[in-house]
Amino acid sequence: MENRELWERLNMDLVKHDEFLAPVPQIFTQLFLERKDRPAGMGYFDAVVGDVHGIRVHELFAMKEAGAKVFSTFCVYVPEEIVVATGSASIGLCAGAQFTVPSGEKVLPRNMCPLIKSTMGFKLDRICPYFQVSDWVIGETTCDGKKKAWEILNEHIPTYVMELPQKKNAKDSKLWEEEVREFAAFIERETKVTLTAENLSEGIEKINNKRKALQRLADLRKHNPAPIHGLDVLLINQLSFFDDPVRFAAQVNALCDELDERVKEGRGVAPADAPRILVTGTPQPLPAWKLHALVEQAGAVVVGEETCTGERYYKDMTEPAGSLQEMLANISKRPLKVNCACFTPNQGRLEDIVHMAKNLKADAVIDFNLQFCQPYGVEGYFVAKELEKQNIPFLRLESDFSEEDQGQLLTRIEALVEMIRG
Ligand code: SF4
Ligand code: SF4
Repeated sequence: MENRELWERLNMDLVKHDEFLAPVPQIFTQLFLERKDRPAGMGYFDAVVGDVHGIRVHELFAMKEAGAKVFSTFCVYVPEEIVVATGSASIGLCAGAQFTVPSGEKVLPRNMCPLIKSTMGFKLDRICPYFQVSDWVIGETTCDGKKKAWEILNEHIPTYVMELPQKKNAKDSKLWEEEVREFAAFIERETKVTLTAENLSEGIEKINNKRKALQRLADLRKHNPAPIHGLDVLLINQLSFFDDPVRFAAQVNALCDELDERVKEGRGVAPADAPRILVTGTPQPLPAWKLHALVEQAGAVVVGEETCTGERYYKDMTEPAGSLQEMLANISKRPLKVNCACFTPNQGRLEDIVHMAKNLKADAVIDFNLQFCQPYGVEGYFVAKELEKQNIPFLRLESDFSEEDQGQLLTRIEALVEMIRG
């Protein structure tokens, strides 16, 4: 089946979809393909983006034809291991495109985080084949904006909401474990597949392997000169939510083998004196490449992301266990180690930022906040205080998915880079 036939069968708005995709090849070529000395291992990820609404959607469609389901998630807390264990697919659908924000604003307040508006717009416009191929959205009670947006989204696609606690005490862990168990029962009902110790341990292993591969890639970035551009790693992190987990892990490991060689040869994508930047803050979902592109355009290199399109997604593993019940308990423990600003207090995130800055030998931190995101915006106060205490230079930036403020952002980033260069 050709892509267009598939998109028609998925009830997409093809006119709008063409309009949305038209500028992507040129942007992608400029930002990624024209960069010099990119690792050959990026070829796979470039090909995925080159047919981003094709190959993988065909695969998901074929899975559905064979009886599986597709579950769309929007947060790293949702336990994808459980879905994968049943032979169904879990895909992360947070969206980072300005194109769909106006449609999102038709049903959501304008003064709301662009990530939520963009996501909503993709569904209302029917231009995301991943949304169209999905059977269910799995939401969570993280920030208020998302929590309420699920109610509207539920009018357009069945939406299941997991109740995430706001603290990390014993009773909160208990609540979350119950939520995970209820979710597991829901997935069993929907997929008509019973979870067993065998299939769940396979699910855990597949997702752990994906996380390990991403950890390996992240660890290679501590070398100087940096063996890979931050923008390339951001792209890989973004694709980690869409791709088949086993194939994806193999491709990330192949890329890491190549980067190991580069490190041995002392070969980098930026000079050894290029300022090294750690990014923290709100996620940057596909295709939000603006911040990384500007930082690297300014002559610096992004060496890490303390975000959900970075470290928070893969820093912790689910511990293996012998029985189904213990596995579910362990699955519930992993996400509560993730330090999202939706939690209070959230001291662990400050520790993560400082640890990453030191480990990656970052010269400065950029605390990036999506406009109108209250949890990360407010927490910026503590991030700044901690970085001052640690004598780590930092810059706070706020933006959205539009291109309008690129010049302004670049000026501020260049000032930071100059300051580091002294
Ligand atoms: S920032 Fe928080 S709410 Fe958003 S994806 Fe990450 S963990 Fe989930
Ligand atoms: S960026 Fe902030 S406001 Fe937007 S969905 Fe994430 S936590 Fe909520």
